[in-house]
Amino acid sequence: MKLNITKMIGCLTLGAALIVSLRLPAGAQTTSVLPAAADPVICTWKNDAKAAISFTFDDGTVDHFTQAAPMLEKNGLRGTFFIVINWIGKGNKLTWDQVKSLSERGHEIGNHSLRHWNLVATAEKGDQVNLEKEIVEPIGIIQEKIGVAPVTFAYPLNAHKPPVQAMVEQHHISSRIISKGYNGTTFNLETANRDVDSLIAKGGNWVVMIHGIDPALKGYLPFADATLLDQHFAYVKSREKDLWVDTFANVTRYQLTAAACELKSLKNTPTLVEFELIGKEPGKPEKNAPITLRIDRPKAIEAMQGNRKLELRTEGNATLCGDVLPNGGLIKVRFGS
Ligand SMILES: [Zn+2]
Repeated sequence: MKLNITKMIGCLTLGAALIVSLRLPAGAQTTSVLPAAADPVICTWKNDAKAAISFTFDDGTVDHFTQAAPMLEKNGLRGTFFIVINWIGKGNKLTWDQVKSLSERGHEIGNHSLRHWNLVATAEKGDQVNLEKEIVEPIGIIQEKIGVAPVTFAYPLNAHKPPVQAMVEQHHISSRIISKGYNGTTFNLETANRDVDSLIAKGGNWVVMIHGIDPALKGYLPFADATLLDQHFAYVKSREKDLWVDTFANVTRYQLTAAACELKSLKNTPTLVEFELIGKEPGKPEKNAPITLRIDRPKAIEAMQGNRKLELRTEGNATLCGDVLPNGGLIKVRFGS
């Protein structure tokens, strides 16, 4: 699983670079030592949130279009919808028009295989042809139908093993390994909200798996009362300052980018911090997404990357620079005194 990189990212500080710049020749005056406070770091999550959640919906039932997406959107959130190609347009499943509409509204359409076969069983039979068909064929089909190729994958029946995972990850930026599942029929709002609080307190991320929403539709594990999910989304939204909610693809891109970058300090004075964000894999779009940097110094007045103005926010004594691009040019953050 590619996503365990987050723990490794932590804070990639400029500390080492600053120490080098402070090494003075023997006997030199040290009265002009640079302030130690400016210490740009790559934030683990966008906007320096303490945790991240992606809500993912499996199997492409119509209630994802009629209920889940509107509830997410009402709360300013976006989700990931994992579809099975051969189920589209049949029975209680989404049509291609509905899938396209979800994508156009900012949701992610993910690959949940061609026929929902158990891929571990397929691999164990040595059926490489069908294994590849299940994993790879949907990519071109989805691209053709909605104009956007899927970049993440959810294993049918959550069945995965290293050889299957290796093939999946060859063709996707990430695959979903369940960290949290909401069983609609036993869903308890208070417990779910409390669990979100614990996630924020501990830090980390969840990829939440959800199936049916509307009990009348006879999907898998639908909610006894769908408004509970709506209320849960509203609660999640209320924790927005500490919690980043985005599609599985976007959260993955952020993690991959943060892991593939390092900061290089160029200047550090009381009024100006200058540095570069070096992306070590410039050819891979998923490793070059915009990310957030934090400088533990208040009173920033302007942040630029090249000729582009960066998002700038002060949080307590820290400055957050958003929308920073790897290899996007020199970053200059100016501070007032
Ligand atoms: Zn499924």
